[in-house]
Amino acid sequence: MPALTEKKGCILIIDDSQSNLDLLETLLSDRGYTIRTADGGQPGLDLARTISPDLILLDIMMPMMNGYEVCLRLKEDPQLRDIPVIFISALDDIMEKVTGFKVGGVDYIAKPFQLEEIIARVETHLELRWKRWEVEHLREWERNYYQKLMELKDELMSTASHNIKNPVSNILGGIHLLRKSEKLSPKGEKYVEMIERGAERISSLITDMLDVAWVEAGLKDVPETLHVKAFLQPIVEHFTYGAQKKNLTLQFTPPSVDFSIRVVPSRMSQAVENLLSNAVKYTPSGGRIEVTADLQDENVLIRVTDTGLGIPVEDLPHIFDKFYRVQRREHLDQPGSGLGMTIVQTIVTQHNGRVEVESKEGQGSTFTIVLPA
Ligand code: ADP
Repeated sequence: MPALTEKKGCILIIDDSQSNLDLLETLLSDRGYTIRTADGGQPGLDLARTISPDLILLDIMMPMMNGYEVCLRLKEDPQLRDIPVIFISALDDIMEKVTGFKVGGVDYIAKPFQLEEIIARVETHLELRWKRWEVEHLREWERNYYQKLMELKDELMSTASHNIKNPVSNILGGIHLLRKSEKLSPKGEKYVEMIERGAERISSLITDMLDVAWVEAGLKDVPETLHVKAFLQPIVEHFTYGAQKKNLTLQFTPPSVDFSIRVVPSRMSQAVENLLSNAVKYTPSGGRIEVTADLQDENVLIRVTDTGLGIPVEDLPHIFDKFYRVQRREHLDQPGSGLGMTIVQTIVTQHNGRVEVESKEGQGSTFTIVLPA
């Protein structure tokens, strides 16, 4: 819409009557508008495509192609559909006005012309178009700004994570060596444990932050076709020790007839691992965790069910948000970054799937990864 920014605006007048064209052209060019004219529907459309005017004044009654048809064609053209069209007609008929609005006109001027009325309507619609243009530009500017902020944030997160990772590993390594080389007093051991817990929390936060960046960078590897049982079995086995330590029953029920899935193994295993790690974390001692895989209709369903804390209903819509953690004591007592579910959802979405969750507070949760078969 450069015309409006540079001048008062460019108006295209389409009318088969030369006297009308002359009258409107004189009136509007005197007001500072740039005027282009066409004496019929088809030449009007051709000219509109060439000059992209800011506003069109369009006569209804024209031979060959009437104003309604011209307007419909303008609205079909993505380049021209936003240009406001004001109909002009000798008939001051209500049905005619309604049809004008139906085909996409924004206003209607009846002949014989009232000069002040024409100017007022033209000015109003140009002003409106200008404002709309401003809003759209502002939105685009905001979108770009937001995008830049997000990129900056990702860069910051990634740089900070990399820079923190090594010193934290040094602290944990140092603690390990200290324990090996010194006999610590009970008090000393207590302090070392405090340092260790803190360092472990930072370390897992950094790992999750780096994982988010890695996952959000998109699927780089090629998906592979794998048997679902062979894919899930080792992942579940990896959690056997942690589950036993918490006195949890962990069971994997493979499908009665094995089937294949097409996934990027490193990514999808991380998604399942995150679900299992949460199930172990948020299920109190004595509970039960089950992993299943099924084919249903056109979908593969990988399910992780636990009999744990469950998720309050008001938190359910937010658990996939970055850094979101349920603000309940028993949840916050568990170490976590609030990034695990974001990672799961990003990975599954990248596989054209979705994650479903059903949960009842105090009874447990079921997370289902649904993938197209
Ligand atoms: P976190 O690192 O805190 O575990 P996640 O993104 O993995 O973060 O999960 C978000 C929140 O959802 C958790 O803080 C927890 O409160 C809740 N949550 C996730 N999985 C479970 C589950 N199996 N049982 C109960 N609560 C869960």
